[in-house]
Amino acid sequence: MNNSFTPRNRGGRGRFTQNRRPFRGQRSGGGGRNRSQSRTISHDKFVNLNPSVHEDTVYTPMHTFADFGFHSHIMDNLTKKGYVNPTRVQDESIPHILAGKDVIGLSNTGSGKTAAFVLPIIQKIKTQQTRDTVLIITPTRELAQQIQVEFKEFTDRMQLYSTLCVGGLNIYNQVKELRRGPQVVIGTPGRIKDLVNRGALRLENTTTLVLDEADQMLDMGFLPDINHIISMLPRDRQSLCFSATITPGIKRLLDTMLTDPVMISVRTSETGEHIAQDIIHARTKEAKLQELTKMLSRDNFEKVLVFGEMKHSVQKLAEELTRLGFPSEAIHGNKSQPQRQRALDSFKRGRVNILIATGVAARGLDIPNVSHVINFDQPNTHEEYVHRIGRTGRAGKPGQAYTFV
Ligand code: ADP
Ligand code: MG
Repeated sequence: MNNSFTPRNRGGRGRFTQNRRPFRGQRSGGGGRNRSQSRTISHDKFVNLNPSVHEDTVYTPMHTFADFGFHSHIMDNLTKKGYVNPTRVQDESIPHILAGKDVIGLSNTGSGKTAAFVLPIIQKIKTQQTRDTVLIITPTRELAQQIQVEFKEFTDRMQLYSTLCVGGLNIYNQVKELRRGPQVVIGTPGRIKDLVNRGALRLENTTTLVLDEADQMLDMGFLPDINHIISMLPRDRQSLCFSATITPGIKRLLDTMLTDPVMISVRTSETGEHIAQDIIHARTKEAKLQELTKMLSRDNFEKVLVFGEMKHSVQKLAEELTRLGFPSEAIHGNKSQPQRQRALDSFKRGRVNILIATGVAARGLDIPNVSHVINFDQPNTHEEYVHRIGRTGRAGKPGQAYTFV
């Protein structure tokens, strides 16, 4: 797998240019302004027949990873991961984070925000003389897990430790792990709060805070928990916030949470412009299923993420497809955390090539090489749509999305 973000020639596709036309019907920066008119997203918003080249593939960074002065083990681990150059959000935010500034990083999904905060944090805890710790808060359990995996890959042989504090997993194991004093805690708001209240997680030395996917965290109603957690942190700390979108709600949160932040905004185009998108007409549920199986039979549908609206319909669709000879896994809120993780792992590792998910369950997940996203049920908002299709076309790869209408 070519994981580098160096410019590449993609035959047949136009080079990314700054002033190309926004894709049909899309208001720039339009995000979720029409939230109240859900269910009436204009169908042209699901169509993009002329995708641009992924912008990261043509970005020339200002720094190399070596320029950041990272510890030699970090450099080795970057090489092992196949990272050649920083992505744009990494290029622009890492120097400020290393300088100890508060940073707000806004960039498209799939543009490498995780490493943008994980790498400088590792450098910070490796070189500090104190026992200060880091708290990373994410909206979903899977995302927390994914960040921990990246943290472990980047800290290979460095003797730095992390604990995952998410709901759905045994809390006593987490309490036990916390007693060993990990440098980094990664978790979801509810469980973190729970562990703080039990006295298992102490935050008085937590001088670095990260909020990942902040926009979604507010959508999911975590604000009171987050405020509670933040009130326990030392005032003198470094706070970082990464997000694909910024809404007035997040802006207000950030104003209270960050001190004199540097704003890195590298959303040079609407998220998803590099993803080919089209609609499929189907009148009935049966017709949808028939069209879906037709598509899944095609060779190029290698790794397909299908979005449904409801927990039970997602489960039913996975069972139906499996019965029809298309082995599928489902991930939704009615499954236990280990079940969700197993389903996701089998999809990530290619044991099944079809994953059916609800939008919330799949937010922020980085699953390599998803070739197609299919909206079996339409999303309620344009923002939700952008998040869903952002699961394909990641890390400079092309992607394709279909929406049933
Ligand atoms: P985001 O949080 O912005 O949605 P992720 O941090 O999940 O994006 O990264 C998306 C993908 O890009 C991941 O597979 C990650 O390993 C890969 N990636 C990130 N930075 C680089 C880089 N500098 N070089 C190569 N691949 C990268
Ligand atoms: Mg992310």
